[in-house]
Amino acid sequence: MSSSGGIEERDSGPLHAAVTGVLEMPLTPLSDDDVVEMMRDIEKCARILTAVQHRLLVEANERSLPARFGSKSIKKFLIETLRLNSADAGSRVHRALWVGTPHDMAGEPIDPPLPHTAHALESGEISTDHVRGIVAVMNRIPRGVGPEEREAAEQILAEFARTGSPDDIGKVGDRILAHLDPDGRMSTDLDRARRRAITIGRQRPDGMSPIHGEIDPVLRALLDPLLAKYARPGACNPDDPDSPAIDIDHADPRVLADAASRDRRSAAQRNHDALHALLSSGVFADRLGAHRGVPVTAILTMSVDEVEQAAGVATTATGGTVPMSKALALAERSQPFLAVFDHAGLPLHLGRTKRLASPAQRLALIATLHGCSRPGCDAPASLSAVHHVHEHRRGGATDIENLTLACDACHALIHDGPGGWKTVVQGPDSRYPGRTAWIAPVHVDPQQIPRLNHRHHANELLAEVLARIHRRNEDERAQHRRWLPTRTAGDAA
Ligand SMILES: [Zn+2]
Repeated sequence: MSSSGGIEERDSGPLHAAVTGVLEMPLTPLSDDDVVEMMRDIEKCARILTAVQHRLLVEANERSLPARFGSKSIKKFLIETLRLNSADAGSRVHRALWVGTPHDMAGEPIDPPLPHTAHALESGEISTDHVRGIVAVMNRIPRGVGPEEREAAEQILAEFARTGSPDDIGKVGDRILAHLDPDGRMSTDLDRARRRAITIGRQRPDGMSPIHGEIDPVLRALLDPLLAKYARPGACNPDDPDSPAIDIDHADPRVLADAASRDRRSAAQRNHDALHALLSSGVFADRLGAHRGVPVTAILTMSVDEVEQAAGVATTATGGTVPMSKALALAERSQPFLAVFDHAGLPLHLGRTKRLASPAQRLALIATLHGCSRPGCDAPASLSAVHHVHEHRRGGATDIENLTLACDACHALIHDGPGGWKTVVQGPDSRYPGRTAWIAPVHVDPQQIPRLNHRHHANELLAEVLARIHRRNEDERAQHRRWLPTRTAGDAA
């Protein structure tokens, strides 16, 4: 313990010397690659240091330092000792509860509540913002979910955090939660039915009316594809006489692209204008034509197991989920498109060799991939285009094995120039044969590992991680059984 009453700031120590050395280092002689490399390295070190801060925080608390220094709590102790603001001190204490390593009475370390997240932070692969996102999702898991499912969820989130942005963790969490709690044990159909509402408020003197409410998953699945088509930038824009409206199918793609580049409306304004255009056109869903080559209708994906058991969730092409019971009811009233899959989840039906994908191929891709295939991208199928993995102009066939889904932004990333991404088809020996893997440019991934997008496949990941956890727990139990009699015998001897 320090001899003085408080903790003094000392300028000594190897870490301080190293950091000062880096601070004083001239940057001008560095190459561009060196600058990027150094930025990555510093980020990693800063993240590892936050893990060290958690260790010290737990250590200080276990030694009862706050009480000894006259602070009422560990949070107050941090505020006073490190001159932190209250919010910062509070979030550090909160994080340390989840990823800090406490000790038992014998001084042995105990696993933190989020061991995978803690490990990723300690290796500098994720930031405290990732941790905050993971904690927020874990807090939303219903109490009825078992410990193995809970651990699997945490493991998947930590894995996503290693390659994704903290901003996206909540969306990944939504997918996992939909599978952990498909029928909404947390929130029942009755709850949802009670909450459904669209309120159109009193018209104000200026002519405008407020609208607010909550819509159920089925209405959402019906509404999403309509908005994807008619609320896209450039469509149904009342301020632009050349913007294609309800007849968007017959519009020249260049006219639409030009209109999109002029479009300054917010997403909310585009939604409004889309509803206006739909309602004023007098046409209804069965006469709305096609969007990206498939009918404007709710496209639901479900496996045969799920249909047979009437359990689980169906995935919509626009990235939403609908409980299976509701999905089946919706399907009864529709003209179903049937996609048949083999055990690996690949469509059996193979396509022709035209440049443009057929609607059947597109539907099959939607049903298989659910969305853009670039790792980390959240764009649903309705915002994705069909992409040839081996370019068509270089002899790539329009066969289903050579087709994948990519949103427009990700599609534009594939090129041979600097910063370009590459795509490859996973071979028959890989864990996901036939799926498209993406290779990031060197500044994003120096190791050039082909990676898949698991974001639209929370269920397959969940099943895989759960199977691993089950196996591990079985092994541990088996080991325990072997170990127990030996020890008893040894004690008795
Ligand atoms: Zn994308």
